[in-house]
Amino acid sequence: MKIITDKQELQNITKNTTQTIGFVPTMGALHEGHISLIKKAREENELVIVSIFVNPTQFLAGEDFDKYPKKDVADKKICELAGVDILFMPNISMMYGIDEVTIKAPQTRGFILDGFKRPGHFDGVLQIVLKLFNLVQPTNAYFGRKDAQQVILIKQMVENLFLPINVIDCPLIRDNDGLALSSRNAYLTSEEKTEALKISKSLQNATKLIVAGNFDINQIKKAMEETMEGIDIEYIEIVSKDLNQLKIIELKNTIILVAVKIGTTRLIDNIWI
Ligand code: AMP
Repeated sequence: MKIITDKQELQNITKNTTQTIGFVPTMGALHEGHISLIKKAREENELVIVSIFVNPTQFLAGEDFDKYPKKDVADKKICELAGVDILFMPNISMMYGIDEVTIKAPQTRGFILDGFKRPGHFDGVLQIVLKLFNLVQPTNAYFGRKDAQQVILIKQMVENLFLPINVIDCPLIRDNDGLALSSRNAYLTSEEKTEALKISKSLQNATKLIVAGNFDINQIKKAMEETMEGIDIEYIEIVSKDLNQLKIIELKNTIILVAVKIGTTRLIDNIWI
């Protein structure tokens, strides 16, 4: 595995290769969720590139940018074992200049759900993903459904800007107890972790109701609120796969999303129905 910190060096390779490139952008502190994306990229491409970059522009003032978990040594080992060919680890000045051209997330879909709670977050996400896409020039780019709104907006960007890239959404990976894997789980105490299990429980309960034939969005939201009693819920939303409001559950076209605060840690989870 080659570790590259310089964008020119990366571009020299990606510009001159005829191989198919599978790309997995991450912010590091890698876990099984990330590894599942890397494995899929490994299966489907000749060259696999992973990036690790904690992108400052997607964090709002007061968020956890400064304390975001950093595990470079373990991450390098994980990538090596997962068969990554190139690990790109740039620093901030390598990726950003001053007074830059920026891009804006779409005015509606980029500013609902997480974009409502974190206004501007998706501007930063799209900015860095576009920069990384331009450096890597991937054939296929892999994103987790864990960040449902993110992958939907990235697909939209690719479509709107005519980028010649396939964006592939990959299943959300959970631990044995059902907790959605996230680098931010490292912030949780063991009591908070137990509390956090209510999140996936609520999504499981919602699924059970739907399987039993209940397609009523308000009833499902209410049942989820009850399962998450005691938790500071930011939102429970039920939308279509292109983030539009739904009147009732539509099988194969519904995402149920949850965002909560457990202590000071913000967690998101979702299920695609
Ligand atoms: P992050 O490092 O949190 O920016 O995530 C990098 C990529 O990994 C994104 O496409 C995430 O959606 C994906 N990812 C993070 N957690 C999971 C998970 N539990 N299951 C599947 N994909 C995940």
